[in-house]
Amino acid sequence: MIKAKKQFGQNFLIDKSVLSKIIQAIPKGVYNIVEIGPGLGDLTAELLKISEVESYEIDVDLYKILLDKFSQDIQKNRLKLHLGDVVDTWQKSGLSKKRYFLVANLPYYVATRIILDAIDDELCEGFVIMIQKEVADKFCALGGEREFSALSVLGNLQGECKSLFDVLPQAFNPPPKVVSSVIKLEKKDSLFCENSPFADKKEYVEFKDFLKICFVSPRKTLAKNLSSKFDKSLVNEAFDKLNLDKNLRAHQLNNALFIKIFNFLKAGNGKQRE
Ligand code: SAM
Repeated sequence: MIKAKKQFGQNFLIDKSVLSKIIQAIPKGVYNIVEIGPGLGDLTAELLKISEVESYEIDVDLYKILLDKFSQDIQKNRLKLHLGDVVDTWQKSGLSKKRYFLVANLPYYVATRIILDAIDDELCEGFVIMIQKEVADKFCALGGEREFSALSVLGNLQGECKSLFDVLPQAFNPPPKVVSSVIKLEKKDSLFCENSPFADKKEYVEFKDFLKICFVSPRKTLAKNLSSKFDKSLVNEAFDKLNLDKNLRAHQLNNALFIKIFNFLKAGNGKQRE
């Protein structure tokens, strides 16, 4: 048995019932799956029963095992296996040339970054991903809940990011220190579709920067956080116009309200503080 490498976040899923629940959660009709971190290939083997697969593995020892294990699928072009850091690959060339659905039991050290990349990638149609429960709750929280954050807003812009079920540490070898959750997003609206709140990529990037300001000090009121960047009178005007209580904290709002405030402040951006 190969020894798991901590630096690559290797916790191999050994509970077959969890594997089967992950497969069942994948929408019907998916024909191109990207998998991050195939590990020993147990999930990969199940994915290959329903779709073509493109897998990214950073660990050369596992890569060699996978090359051998899946030689036939690779030969038939049903599996494309890549060696390398998926974060670098994503930046340099993207994960696939065609539209894809992402499935992964993610290494936890880089999970948030990967989910944010998947949300932004227009070729990604959605995902079923296992991550640590704490991060899952942030992506899936609804406005008003304590965990509601910038990640929740982004996770729910193109569809509903749902937490499907929790997975206990004993489902893995070695067991991680934390409980995990499987989350799912099926993108319904693309980021820049006709009824998108964003005119283009530049505006979407501005919205992400705006969210950072909104949640910069979660204990402070949203109005106070916004006043660190925008003219205070403009912020007050926005709250009055939208009939919002100035004592609200950012986690008490919802996506629609964030977009309204963003649009209001953008329209008055001449008054933005430097
Ligand atoms: N999919 C397997 C399973 O469910 O048992 C393994 C999951 S394990 C939590 C995470 C996997 O991601 C490991 O195989 C690890 O080597 C790989 N990995 C870690 N960091 C990576 C990165 N930056 N790019 C690609 N693969 C990575």
